[in-house]
Amino acid sequence: MSTFLGIPGLRKTQPAHDPNILPGTAPIPDEPLRWGQDFPHAAREALKNEQMRRNLGHATATIRAKRAQVVGEAPDWEDLRDTGSQLKINTLAALPALLEQFETNFTARGGTVHWARDAQEANEIVTALIKATGETEVVKVKSMATQEIGLNEYLAEHDIAAYETDLAELIVQLGEDMPSHILVPAIHRNRAEIKDIFLRRMEHTPEGMTDAPRELAMAAREHLRKKFLAAKVAISGANFAAADTGTLTVVESEGNGRMCLTLPETLITVMGIEKIIPSFTDLEVFMQLLPRSSTGERMNPYTSLWTGVTPGDGPQNVHIVLVDAGRTKALADDVGRAALKCIRCSACLNVCPVYERVGGHAYGSVYPGPIGAILTPQLTGSTGHSDPNNSLPFASSLCGACFDACPVKIDIPSLLVHLRARVVDEDKAAHRPTGWGAAMSAASYVMADSKRFALAEKGTGALRALAGKKGYVAKLPFPANGWTQSRDLPAPPKETFRQWWDRTHPQDSDPATQNNGDNNE
Ligand code: SF4
Repeated sequence: MSTFLGIPGLRKTQPAHDPNILPGTAPIPDEPLRWGQDFPHAAREALKNEQMRRNLGHATATIRAKRAQVVGEAPDWEDLRDTGSQLKINTLAALPALLEQFETNFTARGGTVHWARDAQEANEIVTALIKATGETEVVKVKSMATQEIGLNEYLAEHDIAAYETDLAELIVQLGEDMPSHILVPAIHRNRAEIKDIFLRRMEHTPEGMTDAPRELAMAAREHLRKKFLAAKVAISGANFAAADTGTLTVVESEGNGRMCLTLPETLITVMGIEKIIPSFTDLEVFMQLLPRSSTGERMNPYTSLWTGVTPGDGPQNVHIVLVDAGRTKALADDVGRAALKCIRCSACLNVCPVYERVGGHAYGSVYPGPIGAILTPQLTGSTGHSDPNNSLPFASSLCGACFDACPVKIDIPSLLVHLRARVVDEDKAAHRPTGWGAAMSAASYVMADSKRFALAEKGTGALRALAGKKGYVAKLPFPANGWTQSRDLPAPPKETFRQWWDRTHPQDSDPATQNNGDNNE
């Protein structure tokens, strides 16, 4: 087992291999928020998939360019970000009251509110609601919340087939894969791979279909149209829920969501409790922030809003399942709660240099990228030192690009550091020796005494020799090899600060430590 310094040393498992499954496929896990290997091992595996890296590099660069253009056009962008951030802070501060207000208003307009403490309860509620209709098939609008609770798999176990209708979700579902991006779940697939999946797994695919985007879209349209027209029950997520009116909002680009939200008789929405906003008018802010940050569009193509039941128009049997599943625990953490401000735009993924190279599956959660690294460990909590989710807060270079891009100003780097400290504190509390702890103790011993520090500085000559003409050390010997597993060590300078000081300020130098300009050669 190899251990990165600073990252918990964790179990190593091999990914399942099936020749019938496309490379880069993540098998459907038992736990949608905790699957596979710890991040360092999963990332190393992912980096071997050059096709996935090319697909991701191309897709994220395109979205970044579009976003930069439309954000640059908005003269009040920073004001919008400030307002969105403050609205979310206010929401979290008053969440219990706002949820109750939403329940009152949604119920008054003919909807039914259900409360779920965890994924199991949410799945049971949805299943019971579908069973009560006598249906065995449902259509679905893209929903991170239902991914998070593993709803499709739970329904399948209870003889209910759930059909994803968002094109990217459909690709993921047909490929028996897991999403690798919040907004574009099949971002790791290119057109040739999508054609392959459709030909293998989708009914009514035309013979001789090529990988031209229009042909792929028309094949999916043909397939989905039949599902829309037959479905009596639909399941959706929600982007926002206005407490003062009881209005739900779904934002999407294809119009497939609109079909699900309007045609079936029964509509069941599954939503995390943090999606509440205080007022309907707050949508004015979020509907400017979200499309620009997610798809790089000024305005969203399809925005559906509904408030309970409208007699004779649309679904007449309307439910919402409000899911906690770790959110109130996150809320109780004064620092960590900021992750609940997230509006799932995915801008932080698209700018993250780590995500762009390793892809979403390496995070082992339906929430990948920077937001996943701070949200997932908080939603699941830690099962102890060998929990793969403990490695997620370390899956970052802390460059800060995610913070700059976030439309609601979540300071992701600070949250990552906060969660790293939590992992280290857990180990400390358990008196568990770690490479990081040993390195810090050694550094503390050396730095506590100026003579010891001066002596240690003399050892840097050996490092310079090891670095040679390259100017860096790629592999340190044991036990320091953990440091160079994930980074190169630059060669130390010939002259240390102390040596420079002694040389240039001989009158002020400390006789106890001065070395008369020796540069350790
Ligand atoms: S953390 Fe910010 S940038 Fe990332 S998905 Fe959430 S709202 Fe978007």
